Amino acid sequence: MSQTQMGGSLPGSGSTHLDTLRQMRILAVDDVADNLDLVCAMLAKSGFSNVVTANNGRAALEQLRQYHDDDSSTIDIVLLDIMMPEMDGYEFCRIMRNHDEWSDIPVIMVTANASWEEKVARESFQAGATDIMFKPIRRVDLLPRVISALSLKRERDLRKRREHELEIELAERRIVEARLQHLVGHDDLTGLCNRRRLEQQLEVVVLRARKNQCSSALLYIDLDRFKVVNDAEGHMVGDRVLVEVSNMLRSKIGTRGLVARVSADEFAVLLENIPEIGALEQAEDLRRMMDDFQFKTLNRTYHIGTSLGVASIQPGDVVSASEILARADQACYVAKTHGRNQVHLFNKEDTEMVTLRSAIYWVPTIRDALANNKFKLVFQPVLDLRQRRATHYEALIRMVGEDGHLITPNNFIPVAEHMGLIHDIDLWVVAHAIDILHQQSDMGEISLNINLSSHAFQDAALLPLLKRKLEETGITAHRLTFEITETAAVANFAQTREMIMQLRELGCRFALDDFGSGFSSFSYLKEFPVDILKIDGAFITNLVNDPVDQSLVRSMIDIARTLGKQTVAEFVESKEVLDLLLQFGVDYAQGYYLGKPDPEFKPAQFD
Ligand code: C2E
Ligand code: MG
Ligand code: MG
Repeated sequence: MSQTQMGGSLPGSGSTHLDTLRQMRILAVDDVADNLDLVCAMLAKSGFSNVVTANNGRAALEQLRQYHDDDSSTIDIVLLDIMMPEMDGYEFCRIMRNHDEWSDIPVIMVTANASWEEKVARESFQAGATDIMFKPIRRVDLLPRVISALSLKRERDLRKRREHELEIELAERRIVEARLQHLVGHDDLTGLCNRRRLEQQLEVVVLRARKNQCSSALLYIDLDRFKVVNDAEGHMVGDRVLVEVSNMLRSKIGTRGLVARVSADEFAVLLENIPEIGALEQAEDLRRMMDDFQFKTLNRTYHIGTSLGVASIQPGDVVSASEILARADQACYVAKTHGRNQVHLFNKEDTEMVTLRSAIYWVPTIRDALANNKFKLVFQPVLDLRQRRATHYEALIRMVGEDGHLITPNNFIPVAEHMGLIHDIDLWVVAHAIDILHQQSDMGEISLNINLSSHAFQDAALLPLLKRKLEETGITAHRLTFEITETAAVANFAQTREMIMQLRELGCRFALDDFGSGFSSFSYLKEFPVDILKIDGAFITNLVNDPVDQSLVRSMIDIARTLGKQTVAEFVESKEVLDLLLQFGVDYAQGYYLGKPDPEFKPAQFD
């Protein structure tokens, strides 16, 4: 047995496909050395120089095994004599076909018969041959058959490899999705469920209450004096308090309910199948436990204490999960205003009191700001990492307070959304952003990112206003990118999609803000006509020290790239994070390291 290397080429060839086929490995099997030499010579003359030989079936099996063990190569076709000592062609072929790994290799049987013989043909094909030829072999017969068999084999190999790669890719994506699901459902510090997971379960419970005849309850727990410890002892100690309280809640509730951390020092417990009176007893139990709890540091002992709100979910109730959460939260607020360390059961008058209190202040304040131009926009640079300059700025709204200080949107946007004032704010922002671009004509071709509320898509006035402003100012639509949060977009999928398409038709671009935070599944992304994904800042702030964040960010970038979308990383607060992001291949970066929001269009600063 030897590997024969011979030169020669097919006249007039030059096709790369043929060149590839010529590299493929041919196993020629015959017990007559002269026959083997002849076949090798014919093949070599046409450039097929990767030929190995064997002089019977057993030796041929050896060759198959040897090449199969070597991962990088294999036998691609067998030219097989039938009559041979020790192991004939039929037997070799049958054994070969019983091995999965060899089942795809084409076999051309070569028979001593000079003409067609039914019996030989039938037996050859039954044994697993893919073709049959008759001696004496001529080059004009042999080559086309070898080439076509090798072509088929190669096509099949490529397809198999692609399928295999796809399987791996899919598996990897599933792992990332599962990890995200977990992360997204749990609180990092305490390991408890987070607000999102609680809301999901609450949805289920609310639906069950509607259908079944059982009642459930949600307890909202606020630590009365967490802030004292946190301020006096620092965040590390504060974190320890939260972990200890979480562990106490977890062991007290056990499997009877779901315990979640809903914000810094607020927790919730969802209890299913429990009458209202039972839920109140349970809440009272927790209050007592927390009243007895003392947190000790080296030289001090703290009494933390809790206020608890209870919202019960009664059979037949038609309420939403978010309504239940709001009720429990409000009951907790009332418990606090009644002097803390108490349990309070929600009732309707509470809602009115709480909403009124905040609306009474904010509604006229927002109206006044709209009427008297007390809103203003500030601009944060978005750095194009390829061009290394800020081509975009994100416009962020501020309200100018009594003494001239700027109030951030988190204070008034939620109330505005709740009280139906958000449409006016959205319209104000769009109109002003375009006016500012118009006034800044000396700034060259900068473009603006404008945040829209989740309600903007129900506002029939938005599109006409936008068209009118663009016409009036002559600003081109591609200088505007609208941002909408992922959670809002997914919640109103159909409506949002429709509106996005209309705005994109005008030439505006679209970004999905806080991408990753409201994660449910990446699958909707394919259907969503956005140009840019803004990776949520929560994944970026700790990027340098958190390998999980790193792999999540990498896979988000990867997915964006696969879908032909660009990526922005927000909350870039240090050079180290920026360097890492550059390495990951993010398209744009934004954050305090590069520039804080400012009334002027300040260029991005970086080393
Ligand atoms: P967003 O669109 O995700 O905006 C990013 C927020 O992160 C901004 O807060 C910005 O000041 C802040 N930020 C930027 N870089 C960093 C950083 O490196 N570290 C940290 N920790 N924070 C950074 P801001 O201006 O308070 O806005 C908060 C949210 O309010 C925005 O989140 C957006 O959802 C909403 N919002 C802001 N302006 C408008 C507006 O004009 N209309 C509407 N509907 N919503 C707005
Ligand atoms: Mg934004
Ligand atoms: Mg954001």
